[in-house]
Amino acid sequence: MATITVNFKCNNNCISCINYRKVANSNRERSLDDIKRMMKKLEKEGVKHLDLNGGEPTIKKDLFEILKYLEEEYPRLEVKLLSNGRMFCYADYVEKLRELNLTKFSLVINLYAGDKSINDAITRSPGSWEQTVKGMKNLLHAGFKVELRIVVNKLNYRHLPEMAGFILREFGGIASVDFINMKVTGEARKNRNIILPRYTESVAYVQRAVDILKDQVNVRLLHFPFCILERKYWDFAKGVTIDRHITLAPQCDFCEQKNDCPMIWKSYIDIIGPEEFKPIGMGCGH
Ligand code: SF4
Repeated sequence: MATITVNFKCNNNCISCINYRKVANSNRERSLDDIKRMMKKLEKEGVKHLDLNGGEPTIKKDLFEILKYLEEEYPRLEVKLLSNGRMFCYADYVEKLRELNLTKFSLVINLYAGDKSINDAITRSPGSWEQTVKGMKNLLHAGFKVELRIVVNKLNYRHLPEMAGFILREFGGIASVDFINMKVTGEARKNRNIILPRYTESVAYVQRAVDILKDQVNVRLLHFPFCILERKYWDFAKGVTIDRHITLAPQCDFCEQKNDCPMIWKSYIDIIGPEEFKPIGMGCGH
């Protein structure tokens, strides 16, 4: 799997953004020619899945050209677009995307809460919740495969069970709901005292949200190590990033599950420390 960051600019201003605001304000972006060059290299490496992220990719003027190019040149490539979903509140924008007839295409949309005021306090962008929710509905109505991604933070974790109910009521046909722990870089690092929860603070609420969703929707817990979760939630735990930003704690050497563990953001251990992680099979009660 590979990721291409197509731009850095964003129409949200999230308190938990992994980039600093000055990066998110920059006009730096990758041209179609840049992407063509990158794809030649990735093709040689045999890449089968490509994530396109930003910034916010949907505010890039030539996004549809890029998608069309990928469809025509790499018809077997699975392309996933990561977005805050706001642009999809415009029906004509969704229609233009639909007219591309992309065959192996899906979307990951970020939303923080089922409640407007909580969401918009995190995005620091009034009106963003309404646009994202409408965008989600437009995409689902148009038949797109959509995953909802929820970054768990101190401002939303207590409300995740209510959000689960909201998702079931409002987003019928959604492909999956992913709860992900925060990578603590950029704005997220700057605002860590306000927004970074310990796993042990948030996990009970996350598990309650899973209980509400799991019989009707595919649910994943991204970068929730097994030792933090009750045993019955282990099947939901996945790691999606295998790179230099992810790590284990020193004591994980003694854990029976270390080879399958979804692992922890390095930035989390840097800030909070490794004490919460208890090797399994070493008397932690699992
Ligand atoms: S102790 Fe370490 S390896 Fe084991 S589940 Fe926890 S974080 Fe993962």
